[in-house]
Amino acid sequence: MQCRSKKREAIYDALVKSCDHPTACELYLRVMERVPGVSISTVYRNLSEFCAEGKAIMIVTSGGEERFDGNLCAHDHFICRLCGKAFDEERTDMGNAVLRKMEKKGRRPETVSVFGVCENCIGNDAM
Ligand SMILES: [Zn+2]
Ligand SMILES: [Zn+2]
Repeated sequence: MQCRSKKREAIYDALVKSCDHPTACELYLRVMERVPGVSISTVYRNLSEFCAEGKAIMIVTSGGEERFDGNLCAHDHFICRLCGKAFDEERTDMGNAVLRKMEKKGRRPETVSVFGVCENCIGNDAM
């Protein structure tokens, strides 16, 4: 179906152009501007297909929020437990070693996530 693949293309394109690891909901709002009539369930379905096909990865941030990443260059993430943002970090030798260790166990590791408080939130966590 041509219509279906057009939506899929638009969703993928919006994901790849987003550098801020959007949630399905945020991505839906971006796609909706360009493809009227797209539904949130279509966005969800396509995102899980992209992950299954290895075209995207899902990272779960500290609030349990699912965020999506279309950047396939090997990189890892720093996740702020206060603002919930995921920052792209260059993959280090240590990151590589962790992933290789997981592969040896027969797993399929995608990214290393480090949790903490980001530079913007330091000082706001005194509560
Ligand atoms: Zn933060
Ligand atoms: Zn990323």
